[in-house]
Amino acid sequence: IVVLGIETSCDDTAAAVVRGNGEILSQVISSQADLLERYGGVAPKMAEEAHSQVIDQVVQQALDEANLTENHLSAVAVTIGPGLSLCLRVGVRKARQIAGSFKLPIVGIHHMEAHALVARLVERELQFPFLALLISGGHNLLVLARDLGHYVQLGTTIDDAIGEAYDKTARWLGLSMRRGGGSALEELAREGNAQSIKFSVPMKQHKDCNFSYAGLKTQVRLAIESKKIDTETPFFSTSSQDRSLRADIAASFQRVAVLHLEERCERAIDWALNIEPSIKYLVVSGGVASNQYVRTRLGEVVKKNGLQLVCPPPKLCTDNGVMVAWTGIEHFCKGRFDPPPPVDEPEDFVFDLRPRWPLGEEHTEGRSGAR
Ligand code: ATP
Ligand code: FE
Repeated sequence: IVVLGIETSCDDTAAAVVRGNGEILSQVISSQADLLERYGGVAPKMAEEAHSQVIDQVVQQALDEANLTENHLSAVAVTIGPGLSLCLRVGVRKARQIAGSFKLPIVGIHHMEAHALVARLVERELQFPFLALLISGGHNLLVLARDLGHYVQLGTTIDDAIGEAYDKTARWLGLSMRRGGGSALEELAREGNAQSIKFSVPMKQHKDCNFSYAGLKTQVRLAIESKKIDTETPFFSTSSQDRSLRADIAASFQRVAVLHLEERCERAIDWALNIEPSIKYLVVSGGVASNQYVRTRLGEVVKKNGLQLVCPPPKLCTDNGVMVAWTGIEHFCKGRFDPPPPVDEPEDFVFDLRPRWPLGEEHTEGRSGAR
């Protein structure tokens, strides 16, 4: 089996070719970093245009680097949600064109399921059921993965995701968003004193597995104001005293942001083991999982609880085409795919897009294990 995966749910245009045995034949990514830096966020219409401009080239390059043509493919997998519908549409249109012309089955992929399942490409021993923490720009999820396509949501964010908090904090500290605010902030935090500012850990009083990052964002904002940091001055042009202040804020923010993850994971492990005592792994994936501090701290939590951590390499944690291709392979092997679309699909054809698409059902009972 060889599957082409296409991902355009947010600001990266990505494609990859992966073999059924997990061999990655190619991975190509075109990011809209320049746009992000200039406009400070993803504007759907602009992102759509950017995707449209590069999609053909990204897919072609993925095929070229894999050294094969569309004829060699077994199926095309494409993210159909959740995400920005204008953006999703670009990838889905491309996938359907290829699938139509070459009579290939098509597999519609859930972006967050792909973030989770790529861990099974990385770690072959990883069987269902397992626990997963998915942390990215738009999501903060704790899920019990019972089987392919079968997820129980143990916790989600009640406001912002951790990646959003990283991005905002990075912006306020005047860091470059070019390589992503998150990784710039991680770097700066290494120079700071994480104990210097006492931010409070969110949702201490809620004995559940949900997350909240809006309050922490506000705490950071207030700290920046009280320290009189000029948020309009870019980091590289500030005084060294001001820099070390900014580093302290970065480190203090990161410590508490991640502490919140640690506490929630502890509880989720409890809950999950109550439901599925055979669980051995915690998967941590999504863009924020590429953070080394996050990986180390969650590694400790997992060890303490007798589980193993599976955290994909950073390139497979942030958005990529490999995770889509791999999840396509998993579904394809179980016979879950759509037949090839007609070659002459009408211009106004309404695609099956799922901009809002929950991953599995919500966990409501069996909370006796709650601490
Ligand atoms: P979602 O998966 O929720 O749709 P997304 O697809 O836009 O969001 P991902 O690529 O999965 O995003 O994750 C991007 C997020 O990860 C951004 O918020 C970014 O700041 C964050 N991120 C990336 N690298 C790091 C890092 N080293 N430390 C912290 N955060 C990081
Ligand atoms: Fe993502």
